[in-house]
Amino acid sequence: MQLPREVVVGNNTLDQIGAITKRLGFSDSAMIVMGPKTMEVAGRKVMDILKAEGLKVDHLVVTSCNIKDIVFVEDKIDELKPQVVLGIGGGTKIDVAKISASHKDRPFISVPTTASHDGIASPLVSLKGLDKPYSLMAQSPMAIVADTNVIINSSPRFTASGCADVISKLTSVRDWKLAHEVMDEYYGEYAANLALMSARLMIKNAQLLTTDMEQGLRVLLEALISCGVAMSIAGSSRPCSGSEHLFGHALDQIAPKPAMHGEQCGVGTIMMARLHNINWRQVRDTLKRVGAPTTAQELGIEKEHIVEALVRAQEIRPDRYTILDERTLTPETAKTLAKTTGVI
Ligand SMILES: [Zn+2]
Repeated sequence: MQLPREVVVGNNTLDQIGAITKRLGFSDSAMIVMGPKTMEVAGRKVMDILKAEGLKVDHLVVTSCNIKDIVFVEDKIDELKPQVVLGIGGGTKIDVAKISASHKDRPFISVPTTASHDGIASPLVSLKGLDKPYSLMAQSPMAIVADTNVIINSSPRFTASGCADVISKLTSVRDWKLAHEVMDEYYGEYAANLALMSARLMIKNAQLLTTDMEQGLRVLLEALISCGVAMSIAGSSRPCSGSEHLFGHALDQIAPKPAMHGEQCGVGTIMMARLHNINWRQVRDTLKRVGAPTTAQELGIEKEHIVEALVRAQEIRPDRYTILDERTLTPETAKTLAKTTGVI
């Protein structure tokens, strides 16, 4: 089990990045992986702080997370031999840094600039351009430094998407339990409860995101980080990715213009909650409260693609037993499910 050693969440925590890096034993060199935009919002500052601490700092700018980007970063790690790799960004930059560092046996520090999904703290990465559309195991971040002062300035759409990713644990944990009961799959109660608790706390505190944004962001970040830790404890994405994620991954393949990860999984959670016979209206209402999409129209996705994704979700990852294996959806039953839950 690999867990983060330092988790720092709060206002202006970026100022502590030098002290944290040194405390973890890295006082010679670091490599920063970031995007052109994240360089402006946080990257430059991190570089300056680390340089002021006496570290040799190299930086790489990447714009996507495909095999080419990963090989590029890995080659640079071989060439420059940094002690530690930092990923600064929303999703892709953190993923590129996480997997490249893992392949090259380097520790990795996560510096999220948005709170859009639980990959900021998980040991998994989502890679584009592979035959598998779902996440792969890499390594857990050694530290997570989340500065709410930076994240508060990101688009509200990212934050809403992150909330939806947390809420999706309501159904992913149930899918896991089902797989345990029916298929005798390993089920870790601790990891399951940690993921479930994150979703429940998010639902309970959803209104904070409108009344007290900073406090709301703290709750969200802690929930996302707890989900990442749940995956580290389970040793897989199982506690945090069930049928609702399969639906989201199917949409990524089917829709010409997919929505954000959390947004798609959130809408999937509404429908999978109904299949699980849990309170799907509460899921929908919470998503609405945090400003996340609850319908095909709000996702910007055609109704037919929603139905097709529901039908094809199970085949995305046949080894992952979920409610979709119990309640096989046909185009007709999928359409009824989407209609009853108001998604289409
Ligand atoms: Zn997710």
